[in-house]
Amino acid sequence: MVSEFRNHPLTDFSKDENRQKMQTALEEVKGQFDRTYALYINGQEIETGDILKSYNPCKKGQVIGNFHKAGNGDVETAIAAGGKAFETWRFVEPSKRADYLFKAAEVMRRRQFELNAWMVYETGKNWVEADADTAEAIDFIEFYAREMLLYAEKQPITPIAGEENEMIYIPLGVGAIIPPWNFPLAILAGMSMAAIVSGNCILLKPASDSPTIGQKFVEIMQEVGLPAGVLNYIPGSGSVIGDTIVTHPKIRFITFTGSTEVGLRINELAAKPQKGQIWIKRVVAEMGGKNAIIVDGEANLDEAVEGVASSAFGYQGQKCSACSRAIVDESLYDEFLEKLVERTKKITMGEVENSDNFMGAMINKAALEKTLKYIESGKKDGRLVHGGEAGPDSGYFVQPTIIADLDSKDQLAQEEVFAPLLAVIKARDFDHALEIANDTEFGLTGAVYSENPDKLKKARTIYHAGNLYLNRKCTGAFVGSHPFGGFNMSGTDSKAGGRDYLLLFLQAKTISQKV
Ligand code: NDP
Repeated sequence: MVSEFRNHPLTDFSKDENRQKMQTALEEVKGQFDRTYALYINGQEIETGDILKSYNPCKKGQVIGNFHKAGNGDVETAIAAGGKAFETWRFVEPSKRADYLFKAAEVMRRRQFELNAWMVYETGKNWVEADADTAEAIDFIEFYAREMLLYAEKQPITPIAGEENEMIYIPLGVGAIIPPWNFPLAILAGMSMAAIVSGNCILLKPASDSPTIGQKFVEIMQEVGLPAGVLNYIPGSGSVIGDTIVTHPKIRFITFTGSTEVGLRINELAAKPQKGQIWIKRVVAEMGGKNAIIVDGEANLDEAVEGVASSAFGYQGQKCSACSRAIVDESLYDEFLEKLVERTKKITMGEVENSDNFMGAMINKAALEKTLKYIESGKKDGRLVHGGEAGPDSGYFVQPTIIADLDSKDQLAQEEVFAPLLAVIKARDFDHALEIANDTEFGLTGAVYSENPDKLKKARTIYHAGNLYLNRKCTGAFVGSHPFGGFNMSGTDSKAGGRDYLLLFLQAKTISQKV
């Protein structure tokens, strides 16, 4: 009997014991830097000789790992391996498939501090953010394993005389999993395991900025004995092998999380049937956001300031759910800005190996340069009230930046930057604030701070976001409690960590027998 799903607890780093464990893990992981890893296809390690390097964004030039890169030929090999494995994997009992997940979650719990440490170094997450990522990965795995058990049960169907009818869920085939670097374990593991537990075989192409975390996930799946060919790991450049994967006639589905630009390209390419293709490809694409927090005239100002600061600057603003717009009622606009600037001044920045630092570096040079360009354009349209410059040159640091007095149509109020860069916009009243909040092509997360229940009620219906939060920050969704996914250009609203998610990896078959 499987217990009810519960979220994995976050580590309390105020306890000496936990701090010590994390420190030890950081030291141990550091001793494993600069290793070289092969592709993993059909249970075999394959070396291509073409190397991708992964770096610590907080310490320029520090190599975390070297990866043999997949080319287009390797994609062919991986798809063939997945196709062969699918012939047996799809018939493995769902409960047995779920067991691999339960075992993997167990290994992750055991290796939690080590996984956290890899994320600190490879993606610039502070200890708490890295720990939350590992916890979320464990949650996804535990949650989807249980969900598969439910989908494997007898499904309700209306009886009719003279027939015995049933509807069963079967897997789709070989799919591609293409995750981003910003939740390098949680999203990667969540998308992969949902596909696998449903009976599919996958090609997993990690983001080029975080292949080591993907590698650790693959090692865990090797440790729990997942059969060869079910999971094929093919690090490589999205711009080189992406189209080959997406357009391949034997690919049945593509599960993507990343930028809107790439998501739309995948959607478009996948829609065109290729020679020999006998299905319509299924695309799940979770993409960007321009998430807003409304601070109403009747808000608890201190709580709103805290919520905005933590949603805007946590993990350097590099969360799809991050707050990049604060829409503030004119009655408390000046006071809000003053308090927000005071709060932001307290943010510490530097190498996140050191737990005193709240903010680390941006993921890479391109991200830093893009951010600085947006700051310049924001300064022309609005008023810089905090930050605005790059941080120490030892890494890709940028100061937490606030630009006020922007108009809803300004570039910085419309385009996703994916950085610690907050646009502040003044609203005449609550209706105007809602109008501004919805004045975007995106619709991922949003929040409202107000003590007025009527306004909160109105926001429930009018605010168009896949994940709406009332009187709390707009980041930090928990698996099971906050099924996650966005509207409009934010994606297909797949609701990761929710009850419907596995249906995206399954198809229903109805069987009727005359009796
Ligand atoms: P990208 O779109 O740049 O990359 C995402 C993945 O797509 C990477 O693995 C990348 O590989 C791959 N890729 C790139 N080009 C192609 C291509 N032509 N065909 C197929 N795959 C390709 O996004 P980021 O990694 O920079 O992630 C940040 C973005 O992700 C933000 O926009 C953020 O909002 C979004 N996001 C959305 C979430 C949601 O739930 N809605 C959650 C988390 C992030 P490579 O690295 O090799 O280029």
